[in-house]
Amino acid sequence: MTSSTRPFLNRRLAEFGTTIFAEMSALALRTGSINLGQGFPDTDGPEEVREAAVRALRDGRGNQYPPGPGIPELRTAIAAHQERRYELSYDPDTEVLVTAGATEAIAASLLALLEPGDEVIAFEPYYDSYAACIAMAGGKRVPVTLRPHEGSFRLDLDELRAAVTDRTRLLLINTPHNPTGTVLTREELTAIAELAVERDLLVVTDEVYEHLVFDDAEHLPLATFPGMRERTVTIGSAGKSFSFTGWKVGWVTATPALTTAVRSAKQFLTYVASGPFQYAVAEALALPDSYFSAFRADMLAKRDLLATGLAEAGFEVFKPAGTYFITTDIRPLGETDGFAFCRALPERAGVVAIPNAVFYDHREAGAPFVRFAFCKQTGVLEEAVKRLKALA
Ligand SMILES: *Cc1c(COP(=O)(O)O)cnc(C)c1O
Repeated sequence: MTSSTRPFLNRRLAEFGTTIFAEMSALALRTGSINLGQGFPDTDGPEEVREAAVRALRDGRGNQYPPGPGIPELRTAIAAHQERRYELSYDPDTEVLVTAGATEAIAASLLALLEPGDEVIAFEPYYDSYAACIAMAGGKRVPVTLRPHEGSFRLDLDELRAAVTDRTRLLLINTPHNPTGTVLTREELTAIAELAVERDLLVVTDEVYEHLVFDDAEHLPLATFPGMRERTVTIGSAGKSFSFTGWKVGWVTATPALTTAVRSAKQFLTYVASGPFQYAVAEALALPDSYFSAFRADMLAKRDLLATGLAEAGFEVFKPAGTYFITTDIRPLGETDGFAFCRALPERAGVVAIPNAVFYDHREAGAPFVRFAFCKQTGVLEEAVKRLKALA
């Protein structure tokens, strides 16, 4: 879209048009295609969690402004979750902040922590709100490109080190990584942590897919590494962990000083959100391990179904170690331009996907890659696979 179609949008945001998701979802509707573009589950999360939200609404809990930092029950549950899973101990009163989804947590963190002109290093392809939020905060984004290497997208640690300058303020990390499905290894995280300590950088780490790691991959929160707890803002999301993306409940865990900073920005964005849902998410976080392992097993089966189908249809598949996305390379199909491919795919095969190029500054680096979401019902994925085989 050209700027002439958005004459009032300021310079900071001029480069951010309508998101690709709006265009592709409209295309899906118009063509009756299966939408594997946008990453939302087509099955709601646990019944008992939904019932907890209904109870809260009926009992008049959360129908008026909840406390600014989030209701105490939820902050306690978030702290208990970090302790139980990662042995990370946070004080619910001073080190936990409930936000309007991870999206607000990212925005508030960047708005609070950046001075105009500060550089922020983020891996590309990156989640689409990162670039816009860095811009809104007046920061300068410095992408470090993840590149295909032996079946997955990997970080070049030398490139990361070389990207740090005297103006670098913050590393914006995402693991498990959307859209590539990469889960950073202990070695990679150790190197990132050492760099952050050595160059005295803040770290904002988006860990919304913490519960979706497969095979022998392990999610290791960056805050658990030496020297990191005091410089790291960790972000989680009930939307992703419990399949309630419409509830918009996210959270931040960090030191009191960092939490206070993020809360200062957050209070003037939404102030508070999702009152009754906060009570339900407090219960969700206390679900037994069996919930989390069943959730993971379900998504693993779906990953394998779609990965196998995409490979049979002729795509090169980067089997994700985490998240609910699969990135593919379309070059084995004789295609090179992911944008053109995704715009034509609904007509050709009745399926919608997202061109990864939209997640890059170096668009050419992302040109042949296309992302499919597998957080859909098995029957939907089976039908999508059947349709995609028409391409082979
Ligand atoms: C979905 C997503 C978010 C946003 O989460 P919400 O809780 O829905 O705001 C943030 N980061 C990544 C990487 C995501 O995929």
